[in-house]
Amino acid sequence: MAQPTEALFREDAYLTEAQATVIDVNDRGRIMLDRTVFYATSGGQPGDTGTMTRADGTKILIATTVTGDSKDEIIHVPAEGAALPDVGETVTLSIDWERRHNLMRMHTACHLLTVACPFPITGAAVGETESRIDFDMAETIDKAEVTAALMQMVEADHPVYAQWIEEAALDANPRLVKSKNVRPPSGTGRIRLVCIGDEASIDSQPCGGTHVKTTGEVGAIHIGKIEKKGRENRRFRIRFGPPQL
Ligand SMILES: [Zn+2]
Repeated sequence: MAQPTEALFREDAYLTEAQATVIDVNDRGRIMLDRTVFYATSGGQPGDTGTMTRADGTKILIATTVTGDSKDEIIHVPAEGAALPDVGETVTLSIDWERRHNLMRMHTACHLLTVACPFPITGAAVGETESRIDFDMAETIDKAEVTAALMQMVEADHPVYAQWIEEAALDANPRLVKSKNVRPPSGTGRIRLVCIGDEASIDSQPCGGTHVKTTGEVGAIHIGKIEKKGRENRRFRIRFGPPQL
């Protein structure tokens, strides 16, 4: 039976530690908790890594985090050979914050790219040093121009925040969804919108990922490459740092 996990990262992406209770350890040694700070792989953002510390001080290395049968069920995958906690045990969670923060910066940069490049999205992957987004577009676009548009939004230091809306409001405004093939999770009655700029003046789109608080926190980024993937598909690669000359 799938058991929902309270996703603490959804309300506060900056939470790096928490205490939780083990509610299940399955026959493959995967750990379910009542609550967690570990983001589970979803929407192109990889799951968190980190540690789970038992009461006796021993640490269980978490290799990755994934969702179960439903997106509400979060499964912690321990490193091979790790000791396993007991059901009912209290553990202290700690994510690899440096890695997650880079993913948050990159994920936010992906939102900015969808503003700089307003075409339907056909695929995306967030990485620690590089991210990519595939757009359904036939136009040729100059990467220096896109980089300049991205950096303008970074330097403006716009706020980034989440807002919950009723699913019906999204149905009434389908243009909010930029992804061509992926529909935001529905059925819960509420959709999480990630907004950029005062009163979402820059952008808003449904997203369950983790983001930084302001666009300034993204830091220097650039478009490393734009690849042609078919007549109507362009793959953009975002990298950290200023453009390499
Ligand atoms: Zn997002």
